[in-house]
Amino acid sequence: MRVTALAGGVGGARFVRGLLHELREVRQDRDSEVVVIGNTGDDITLFGLRICPDLDTLLYTLGGGVDESQGWGRADESHTVQQELAALGAQPQWFGLGDRDFAAHIARSQWLGQGQTLSQVTERLAQRWGLPDQGVRLLPATDTPIETHVVIDDPAGGEQAVHFQQWWVQLLAAVRAHRFTVAGLGQAVPAPGVLDALRTSDVILLPPSNPVVSIGIILGIPGVRDALRGSRAPVVGVSPIIGGAPVRGHADACLAALDVEVSATGVAGLYADFLDGWLVDDADAAGAAGLRAEVRSLDLRMRDVHGAARIAGAALDLATDLSSRRTA
Ligand code: GDP
Ligand code: CA
Repeated sequence: MRVTALAGGVGGARFVRGLLHELREVRQDRDSEVVVIGNTGDDITLFGLRICPDLDTLLYTLGGGVDESQGWGRADESHTVQQELAALGAQPQWFGLGDRDFAAHIARSQWLGQGQTLSQVTERLAQRWGLPDQGVRLLPATDTPIETHVVIDDPAGGEQAVHFQQWWVQLLAAVRAHRFTVAGLGQAVPAPGVLDALRTSDVILLPPSNPVVSIGIILGIPGVRDALRGSRAPVVGVSPIIGGAPVRGHADACLAALDVEVSATGVAGLYADFLDGWLVDDADAAGAAGLRAEVRSLDLRMRDVHGAARIAGAALDLATDLSSRRTA
């Protein structure tokens, strides 16, 4: 079986870790290939270094090196470099970067500077974290540099666009977002393997990642949404919204900018043109009527890897049922 998942950072990474646990440990399936298409809209250049927060969260989580309580960054982390940068007065200070984490950004930036693509660099980083041994391939959604920007009010009058990370990390998404724009998106080309994975997969999964600034960015890369619409594989998604609120983060502020209701059904509406199956929390079971996709409800909180595996298993089961009905 070939399984392809689109993923942002923490929600995507925890789901995919659960998916691998479900396949390899619970189902004893060593053969299935898993491809993860990671969001690159969050990427930012700081201190001359290219930082890919969602790809790094995926690498650290799947590789067993993540800070579990934060959900991102490295475990056993120190901040000597950042403290020295602060002493030097180097800006910005609002983006947390640990010493071990810095090493990945330095290596990535060096390899990109030598002319390697982000895909090639990501493959090298994935080797460091043992992803090939787990039968998982991590692809950046695109090798074309793209950056999500957020249009907010300018205190001096009118509007201004700030980098997504500034809005999310420094402003804590508390400043109203009017809209999102993605620099470079129109010219972006799906990274090698992305469209092929979507076309040849048996199952396509949408983890409970942010529907606007994680999944939404990947879907905006020319060709990706069409590949999902035309895929022979069922597309099954997991709601990141439970009981009208995100489980963590500020997806509510992102949905508000799009005038989309903060609900499991509101998110499903963003995927309506290709979504075949939709997992909602038990709390949302009653509100999910009226969707074209087949809806199932269960406890959607990923409290640990077993909880995430259970959800991934339910997504695989739903996909299998949808496939067998298609061929029947
Ligand atoms: P980010 O890039 O680090 O923000 O991570 P993602 O975009 O991959 O995921 C963020 C989304 O994951 C948020 O909208 C959360 O509501 C959702 N999320 C986080 N933990 C859980 C969970 O345990 N269950 C569900 N259903 N959603 C979750
Ligand atoms: Ca992210």
